[in-house]
Amino acid sequence: MDEGEARSVKVHVVGSSGTFPDHGRPASGYVVEQGDTRVWCDAGPGTYMSLPIDPDLVDAVVISHQHPDHCSDLFAAFHAWTYRPEPRDPVPLYAPQAVWDVVTAFVDQEPPCFDFTPVWTGDVVAIGDLEVSFVEMDHSVPTVGSRWEGHNRTLFYTADTGPAGEWRDLASAVDVMLSEASFQGRVEDKNYLHHLTSGEAGEIARSVGAGTLVLTHIPPYLDKSVSVAEAEKVFDRPVHLAVAGTSFDV
Ligand SMILES: [Zn+2]
Ligand SMILES: [Zn+2]
Repeated sequence: MDEGEARSVKVHVVGSSGTFPDHGRPASGYVVEQGDTRVWCDAGPGTYMSLPIDPDLVDAVVISHQHPDHCSDLFAAFHAWTYRPEPRDPVPLYAPQAVWDVVTAFVDQEPPCFDFTPVWTGDVVAIGDLEVSFVEMDHSVPTVGSRWEGHNRTLFYTADTGPAGEWRDLASAVDVMLSEASFQGRVEDKNYLHHLTSGEAGEIARSVGAGTLVLTHIPPYLDKSVSVAEAEKVFDRPVHLAVAGTSFDV
């Protein structure tokens, strides 16, 4: 491995199943890796046990929002990292305040395995050589999208969102846009405004000048090839799927 390869930003897709896990396919979760830094981003059901690395090697955790399909495995990590003979040192956790409120209420304590820092629009944190910036998304609970920069490469992760709000600036000209695509078909047929159709994902990726579009958060009951085709029609370039157990370079 040459030095460039060793330092490049890589995304391991731990889970990409939208809204709920499918058999053998965890819900939302990724490990963003650069050099020796590994960040677990979103902890949907099934992701803890499917992490591609020893969980103790996770350097930080980032959670987009409090919906269980994005954070329920924080509880798996809490038990694994706390209730063993030698608990692990606290790992930094970055998330909207509401995530911490929900987690602490559920377990009736502040989990000692996490060193929590609230993040919201305008916040930027450094994790190893990665710089992560946050912005409020268009969702029904406080939700942050995130821009990841490292080794002169950029990734934007939409988490769960509708098309509204002021978040597109942070996604401007990214190399890779990892976008949710919870619906297919016509925008007018959406029964929930705070998610995107695959066509909207394609339109937004095109409007911000994203180099590559990777679709995620597609529910198990939808035909993923239809989502890709609908996004490609608008994005006008090949569109990729986030597949659990695979990785891609940013
Ligand atoms: Zn979701
Ligand atoms: Zn959600």
